[in-house]
Amino acid sequence: MPISRRNFIRVSSAALIPLLLGITRPRGRKRKFPIQVDSNRAIGHLIFSSQQFPHKGLLDVDYAIVGGGVAGVSAAYKLRNENVMLFEAGPVLGGSSSCQEYKDVRFSQGAHYDLAYPQTYGQEVLNVLRELNLVDWNKSSKLYEFVDKNHVIPSEILERCWQAGELRGDVLGGGQEVDRFESWMSEYSMPMPTRLVGEEYRALNYLNFADLLQSKGYSQEFVRRVGYQMLDDWGGGCDEVSALAGIHYYSCRPYLEKDVELIAPVEGNYYFIQRMMSKIPYGNIRTSSVVSRIESKKDHSLLSVVDAKTNSIYAVRAKNVVYAGQKHVLKYVMPESYSLFQDNVYVPWVVINFVVKRGAIKSEIWQNDMIRTDRSFLGFANSSVLSSGEVTHEVLTAYFCFPSDFREGLIEVEKAPGSLVYKTIEYLSEYLKQDLESVVEKVFVKIMGHAMPVPKPGYLLRFDSVPVHSCVAFAGVDTGRLPVFYEACDSGVLAADTLKSMV
Ligand SMILES: Cc1cc2nc3c(=O)[nH]c(=O)nc-3n(C[C@H](O)[C@H](O)[C@H](O)COP(=O)(O)OP(=O)(O)OC[C@H]3O[C@@H](n4cnc5c(N)ncnc54)[C@H](O)[C@@H]3O)c2cc1C
Repeated sequence: MPISRRNFIRVSSAALIPLLLGITRPRGRKRKFPIQVDSNRAIGHLIFSSQQFPHKGLLDVDYAIVGGGVAGVSAAYKLRNENVMLFEAGPVLGGSSSCQEYKDVRFSQGAHYDLAYPQTYGQEVLNVLRELNLVDWNKSSKLYEFVDKNHVIPSEILERCWQAGELRGDVLGGGQEVDRFESWMSEYSMPMPTRLVGEEYRALNYLNFADLLQSKGYSQEFVRRVGYQMLDDWGGGCDEVSALAGIHYYSCRPYLEKDVELIAPVEGNYYFIQRMMSKIPYGNIRTSSVVSRIESKKDHSLLSVVDAKTNSIYAVRAKNVVYAGQKHVLKYVMPESYSLFQDNVYVPWVVINFVVKRGAIKSEIWQNDMIRTDRSFLGFANSSVLSSGEVTHEVLTAYFCFPSDFREGLIEVEKAPGSLVYKTIEYLSEYLKQDLESVVEKVFVKIMGHAMPVPKPGYLLRFDSVPVHSCVAFAGVDTGRLPVFYEACDSGVLAADTLKSMV
C-alpha cells in the first residue's frame, strides 16, 4: 500500500480556528524553546508594496524561469546549457520541497519521500533521474530503484497508524473490506504522470471518489480511512477528489504484489533539487527575486523582477519564459493568462519541525499516521530513523493540511504560532507516551498558503500538453497534475522542451 497520511466530517474553517488555536502554554510556565516562523505570505505582499521601489537596469536572456520549486528547477536543469536565468521569490529554492538546517541537522519543510518507479512511467523524468545517477533498473523487482540505499526506509519501520489510542500497522488496517478494495484496485494499472493515463480510465476524472466508494457499498469507517490517505497526499478528502485521483493513488505502483522501495532523505525531496542544482551554473539562479509582472511583447516577454534584498526592481527581456510559480499569482503578474487556471482550488499546509537532542525520542517508526477528529492534523515523521553518522539532534516533522478557505486561520498561526505548536505537542506526546515539551530545543513552523492544488473532478488532464500563452509555457503541479515530485518534474521538463521546439 502507498505510504499514507485523511476525510472527516466537514467542519467550516471558521469553526476550526478556535479548535486548533485554542491551546496555549500552561499558565505560569515559561516557554523553553524558540519558535521560528517562515511564511510565504510576505512574498506575495512584495508584489504590491514594490510599486514604489526604484527601477535599476535591464537583463537580456533567452529563457527566464519563474519559480524555483521542483518544476522550475527541472526546467532549469533541461535548459542548463542555454542563456537561462531562474528567479525564485523565496530566499532558498525548493518551494513545497524545501529544506532547513539547524546546527548539524537538515530536515524537510514539505515533501519528504518518493517511491521506486515502474517502467511504464514517463521516460522524460526517468531520463533525468538516470542522467543524475539517482535511479537504476532492478531486474528482479522490475522497478527503477534508488542508487543511494542510505535513504531507503526498511519496510519494518516504515509506518504505523494511531486512531483513538489504538495502534495498527497502517491506515487501512486489514479485514474483508480491505481485501475487497485491494482486489478492486488490482483491476487498474496507471502510469505517472497522469497525462499518460489511458483513454479507458479518463471518465473516472469526472466522478467523485466518495460517490464511487459509496456506490460500491464501502462502510463509513473505511471511507474515512481512505479519505485520510487522500487528504494526506492529494490535499482533499474522498468527497473532494476525483475517482481518477483516488484510484491512481492505489494503482500507480505494484503495491499489492510487492514492497515498493521508499526513499526519504533527511532533507526530503530537496534531495532531488540539490542533485539537479549541482549541474546548473550557480550564476543562473537568483533567489529573493519576485517576478511581479510579465508583459507579452511582439517577440519577447518583459518581466519586472523585485530584488527583495535591495528593495529595487529591474527589467528582464526574455525570448521565452517558463512560469513555474503558483498560478493564483497570475491574477496580478500576467492577468491575461489567469483564466487558464482560475478553477484551481488550493489548500494550505503548515509543517512543524521539532528539533530534539539525539536519543530523546523513544520511537523507531518513520511515518506515524494519526487519525483524530481534528481533520487537519495528519501525524508526523520521525527523522531519527533516517540520520546516519554522528548528528547531535533529530527532528519530528508534523503535518497539517487545512481547508482551502483557512486564510484567516493562517494569519493567526503566523501571528501567534505558539497555540498550534502546543496543540501539536499535545498530540505527539499522547502518541509517544512521553512529554515532548520537555525535550524540544527549537521549533520551525513553515506556513504555505497555496501549497497544493486539489485534484477535484475535472481537474486532472485539463491540458492535453503544456499550457502555453504567447511565449510563456506553464509548469508546476497546479497545471492539471497530481501534487507529487514526478508530476512537478515532468511538467518542468516538458515546458523546457516545448519552448526549445518553438525556437
Ligand atoms: C506539506 C507537503 C508535503 C508534501 N509531500 C510530498 C511528498 O512526500 N512527496 C511528493 O512527491 N510530493 C509531496 N508534496 C507535493 C509537492 O508539492 C510536489 O512534489 C512539488 O514539490 C511541487 O513543486 P512545484 O514546483 O510544482 O511547486 P512549488 O513547490 O509550489 O514551487 C513554486 C515556487 O515558485 C515560487 N514562486 C511563486 N510565485 C513566484 C513569483 N512571482 N516569482 C518568483 N518565484 C515565485 C515559489 O516561491 C515556489 O518556490 C508535498 C506538498 C506539501 C505542501
